[in-house]
Amino acid sequence: MASRPKRRPRILTVQSVRSLSPHMIRVTFAGPELEGFPLNHEGANCKLVLPRDGESRDDFDAYFAPDGPEEKVHPVRTYTVRAFREEGRELDIDFVAHGDEGPATRWAQTAKPGSFLGFFGPSQPKMTEFYADWYLVAADLSAMPVAEATLEAMPDSAKGIAIFEVPSEDDIREITTPEGIEIKWLIHPDAHAPSSAQVDFIKALDWRPGVVQTCIAGESSVIRTLRDYLHNDRKLPKKDTYISGYWKIGLVEDEHQKMKRAEAA
Ligand SMILES: Cc1cc2nc3c(=O)[nH]c(=O)nc-3n(C[C@H](O)[C@H](O)[C@H](O)COP(=O)(O)OP(=O)(O)OC[C@H]3O[C@@H](n4cnc5c(N)ncnc54)[C@H](O)[C@@H]3O)c2cc1C
Repeated sequence: MASRPKRRPRILTVQSVRSLSPHMIRVTFAGPELEGFPLNHEGANCKLVLPRDGESRDDFDAYFAPDGPEEKVHPVRTYTVRAFREEGRELDIDFVAHGDEGPATRWAQTAKPGSFLGFFGPSQPKMTEFYADWYLVAADLSAMPVAEATLEAMPDSAKGIAIFEVPSEDDIREITTPEGIEIKWLIHPDAHAPSSAQVDFIKALDWRPGVVQTCIAGESSVIRTLRDYLHNDRKLPKKDTYISGYWKIGLVEDEHQKMKRAEAA
């Protein structure tokens, strides 16, 4: 069920849309609503409030007025701040194009200059301290924004491996990383079918000695298996491991979040 945020979001306007690869869309927002946006929050998550099909900007805006309607009508989805450029007040958010069943992916696939949505956040970036002997980064498309932002924030001397699972060869693209980070691409064509590609690859890794920090996110079942492996088999301390389920096959986000809350309780 859609959940209605209580506060008024920033209502952001699309400046440009471009395809990063067949299944990844970069939407750049710009305008006065981004005044005061916090710097250095790449990799932090945010909540996007999606307009209803055909809803005008005036109606969307009026909904959040103090005397706006009470009922919850707009879908809210979690995304990642990929980049913010203070000069020009430009914000990039990268959306997976995963079909047409989700309101967020549908919105991104039809977005054009002038399109709008509501924005809450950002939260704090996921990794801000880098002290590992080596780094283990793993992501499917949904987590590439947090993975890429984290790789860009690492010290130049960082070493380790970054594993990206994408649906096609054409989704492989240039990634900026420190020189000592090896990149491995795994192809799994159908994101809606369970994948063991990342788990198999990580379990077969030649495990290096020393302190490891992780930035791992993606489909929930994959994450559950990896979390178990890293915490129970590899005994990595929780403080060194950012590992998070970003979506789950067959569940819309609200159901997935509910499942995560129930598991954490
Ligand atoms: C902290 C955090 C940060 C995130 N950052 C990003 C981000 O920057 N970019 C991004 O694209 N996603 C990101 N996600 C994932 C995103 O929130 C979910 O994919 C969300 O479900 C998308 O909403 P939707 O409206 O498109 O689909 P929903 O309405 O939630 O789901 C509709 C259907 O699509 C399926 N589905 C959802 N996501 C995917 C997917 N990635 N691949 C294949 N099928 C899917 C669902 O299982 C469901 O069957 C993030 C999630 C979290 C928790």
